[in-house]
This record gives sequence, structure tokens and C-alpha cells, in this order.
Amino acid sequence: MNHKIDFLIIGSGSAGLIFALKVAAHGKVIILSKSTMEDTATSYAQGGIAAVTYSPDNYEKHIEDTLKAGAGINDKEIVRITITESTERVKELIEWGTHFDKEKSGKFALAREGGHSEFRILHHKDNTGFEIQRALSEKVKAHPNIEVFENYFAIDLITQHHFNEEVNRYRKDIRCFGAYAMNERAGKVETFLAKVTVVATGGLGNIYQTTTNPLFATGDGIAMAYRAKAHLENLEFVQFHPTSLYNPGEKPSFLITEALRGSGAILKTRKGSVFMKKYHELGSLAPRDIVARAIDNEMKLSGDDFVFLDARHISKNEILNHFPTIYAKCLSIGIDITKDMIPVVPAAHYSCGGVKTDKEGRTTIENLYAVGEVACTGLHGANRLASNSLLESAVFSHRAAMHAIGIFRQMDFRENVPEWDAEGRVMNEEMILITQSKKELQAIMSSYVGIVRSNLRLKRAFDRLEILYKETEDLYDRSILSEEICELRNMINVAYLVIKMAMNRKESVGLHYSIDYPEKKEN
Ligand SMILES: Cc1cc2nc3c(=O)[nH]c(=O)nc-3n(C[C@H](O)[C@H](O)[C@H](O)COP(=O)(O)OP(=O)(O)OC[C@H]3O[C@@H](n4cnc5c(N)ncnc54)[C@H](O)[C@@H]3O)c2cc1C
Repeated sequence: MNHKIDFLIIGSGSAGLIFALKVAAHGKVIILSKSTMEDTATSYAQGGIAAVTYSPDNYEKHIEDTLKAGAGINDKEIVRITITESTERVKELIEWGTHFDKEKSGKFALAREGGHSEFRILHHKDNTGFEIQRALSEKVKAHPNIEVFENYFAIDLITQHHFNEEVNRYRKDIRCFGAYAMNERAGKVETFLAKVTVVATGGLGNIYQTTTNPLFATGDGIAMAYRAKAHLENLEFVQFHPTSLYNPGEKPSFLITEALRGSGAILKTRKGSVFMKKYHELGSLAPRDIVARAIDNEMKLSGDDFVFLDARHISKNEILNHFPTIYAKCLSIGIDITKDMIPVVPAAHYSCGGVKTDKEGRTTIENLYAVGEVACTGLHGANRLASNSLLESAVFSHRAAMHAIGIFRQMDFRENVPEWDAEGRVMNEEMILITQSKKELQAIMSSYVGIVRSNLRLKRAFDRLEILYKETEDLYDRSILSEEICELRNMINVAYLVIKMAMNRKESVGLHYSIDYPEKKEN
């Protein structure tokens, strides 16, 4: 089956939905979602969205905090654009129906998170992302020009090489005409032809064993863009959240916000000793990457599978008022956090790198935009400042939409696009092979390409991945298509890119730490 639309958006998180709402007055839009519309990382965001709202905060302070977190390798122009447009974009989210918490005076109740020099996090209880997703989804569902296709798995972009005289840092000799996607219920691949295609597929956390990301976050957009020969950047910078709830078998891992440490919770070893002062003068309140590395080291030293977070000395009243979701979640597995310590473990949380885009969200492929976590705008550099990611989605989905509105009428649909070729795919794959390969991949990435890296560990990961790659490509070529085999293939592509980029970075900076190059390179 063929679909023809002006705008094809792959992904129904905040990035995809904001883009859709902006362009829908100008043309027909289809949004593809691999799962249900609301099953997104956006819905999981707890802390909030960073934006300059009241004095004494100002743009310069937020810019400085962002550059400091990113170890100075951020794109300074992109940082300035993001921060100076933050107030406007947040206003728009509010106009679209998002509720942020307010004080009795009527002013927004702003929170402060690690790395921020001011109170600037707008939030809705401890489920801000859910509230943003709710407001955007309602507007999208009500829009006559937008159709949402749930349980459609985008497999590959439709591209063609062509001659283009616009030669600059962005190669424009490949053009995108849409994507092939599998209708998961019917088990059929359909063709989506579009004047403009947007990749808004979110993160890649599931290439690791433990992640806070939803199950669908297997880096599909990165893998599709890589196969289409788009430029990718900074994938070695994977942010690990230091404290996810240790609850073996539960996926995704439940996040224990750092606000709990902000309220006084203390990290301890399984035997009960306080260890963070050995690593940083701020103890349990040290920056996120230092805490994650310290926990990783303590776990490797002791052989334990977790450390403890002790919140028992915080009053029950404060716990119930500020951390109701965490309290209820822990209680549901038999941990009363006012009486018991919480077992925690670091978890892959956010990808700072991705598909390289310019300040209009354009990739190096013509007519293809990337927005949200899948993109690498340059905002985060080597590390993301907390709550800057929802903001990045809002700013660059807006900018990409404005650019796309300006150009899409001059674009043609590509004619004679071949249907998805199922020739030669005769084998019913053995599910057990896919499940086991996925587990192997996650073990390789967690063991050798996690928080602390070295030349030897990366080489070992690379060699083991090569075997998995060959086996999986062979299986993919012969198998009748399924979401599982496509996902595994994408995860292997993405893992390869993370390892390769980590190997090329011969320094320790931000989220990339190598024991062979412990210092940051001087520029
Ligand atoms: C637990 C948690 C807490 C967080 N807290 C915060 C916070 O407080 N503040 C903050 O700023 N950020 C936070 N983040 C990060 C932030 O939520 C994400 O970076 C952001 O929401 C990503 O939005 P997105 O639209 O790019 O992707 P997502 O919201 O993840 O949406 C991705 C979409 O792509 C679709 N998709 C993926 N692959 C395919 C495919 N092959 N075919 C079709 N569809 C596909 C999915 O179905 C989904 O609809 C948090 C993340 C997590 C996991």
C-alpha cells in the first residue's frame, strides 16, 4: 500500500508532535509510532523543562551552565539559539494546554537541578513529561490534517542520489523521499512517500542491559540515517543516570530522581559505608557523571550488583509531598523508603549524539530533518545539562517546521518508487537466536562500553560485535521481516557507531571516560 503526504514524521514524542502541530496548517501530515502514541520517553520525563522565566535568572547564566556541563565542546551558536528561544517555546507549550506547577502567588514554581546555577526547571509534580505528552497528544488527535499510525515500524528511509550544486559542510547529494514502514498488525510493509521526512525516533538506551529508556528506544532513527549515509556525531557521549532502581528483570529501569539526593539522601555501599567523599567534595551531590563513575567503581570493586541510596532520615511528610511516585513504586516491590534503603544502579539514560543537524534541524540528506533525542544539534556537547532535552525538542522542532514550511511546496514526490522487496526472504527466523543475540549485544555494551572505557575494552567489544553483525545480517537477508530482526539490526548498527566514535576519541571528556587517556585534550 502507498501513502502520499506532505510531511512524514517518524515518532510521536514531544519532538514529533510539536513539528506536526506547526506544519499541519500547511499540508497533510502522517505520524508513525512504533508503539502506541503515548508510549514515548517524553511521557517518562520526571524532572521538567529548563527555561529562563524570572529574574535573577537570565539567558547568559543558562548558556554558561549548558557550556560548563558540555565541557565546552558544545556548538556555541546552537546553545545561544536554544536558550534565548526557551521562554517563547515554553509559553507555547502552556498555550497548547500544558500545566506547570505554580506557587500560591500564581508564579511558576521553579525547581533547581544539578548543574543549574538558578531555579529554572518548570515542572508538573514528578511527571512533567507525561503532562506535556498529554497536552500535545490531545491537540494532535483533534487536528483534521494529522493522522497517527500506531504500531507502524519504520524500517528504512527512501533515498536517491542526485546532483546538487549546493556544496558546503552539509552534503546535499542524497535526497529523501519518505520511508518504508511495517504495519505490525498486518505484517505488511507499506510505502510512505513524502515531500518532507522527519526522524523523531528518540534514544538508544536499549543497546545497554540497564536503561531508563522505554523498550522501543533501540536507536532506529540513528541506524536508518546511518544506512542512508547521513552524517552522525558524538555518539560516544551516552549519559548514564547514576540512580535507577535495582529491580532485576524490570524493563525499563525505574528512575530515582537526583532531587532525592538534593533533599539529603546519601549513597552507601551494600555494607553500609558512605563512599562518595572519596570521589568528590560534594559527596552524594557531586555532578551526575562523577556519581555514576563512582558507583560503577564501587560495584566493580565489591562485585555487588547495586549500591544503596539511604533516604530514611528524610521526613515522611517530605517524601510523600515531593516524591509520591518514587515512594509508591518502591513500596510496590516491598521497599518502604522511609524505613529501608533503596538499591540503585546506574542506567543508560540519554544519548547526547545522533544524526547531525544544522540550526534548522536539517540533516546532511536533503528533505530529511531530525529532531529530539535522535538529533545531534550540538547543544549538549560532551554532556547534557539536566532538563535541557525537552527544551531542545521544542526549539528545534519549531525551527525545523518553519524551515520545512518554506520549502515543501517546491518539492516533488518521487515517482516509481519500488515496493519493499521481499524477494528471497523465506526463512521463519528462529526467535531464540534474535533474543539471545540481543542479550549478548547488551552484555557487550554494558561490560566494555559503559561508564568507564579503555582501548582494550573497546577492542574487545568491537571484535565480539563483528561476529554478531555478520550473523544478524545473514539472518536479516533471509528472514521474513519482523520488528525483532529489524530492531536487532538497528541496535548492532548503533552499537558499532558508539564503539567506533569512542575509539576515535583519544581523551576523557564529559561522558566519555577512558583509563588510557584520563585527561581532556587541550584545543
Ligand atoms: C526516565 C526518563 C526521565 C527523563 N527526564 C527528563 C527531564 O526531566 N527533562 C528532560 O528535559 N528530559 C528528560 N528525559 C529525556 C527526554 O524525555 C527525552 O530526551 C525526550 O522526551 C525525547 O523526545 P523525542 O520526541 O525525541 O523522543 P521520544 O519521546 O522517545 O519519542 C520517540 C518516538 O519515536 C517512535 N519510534 C522510534 N523508533 C521508531 C520506528 N522505527 N518506527 C516508528 N516509530 C519509531 C516511538 O514509538 C516514539 O513515538 C528523560 C528521559 C527518561 C527516559
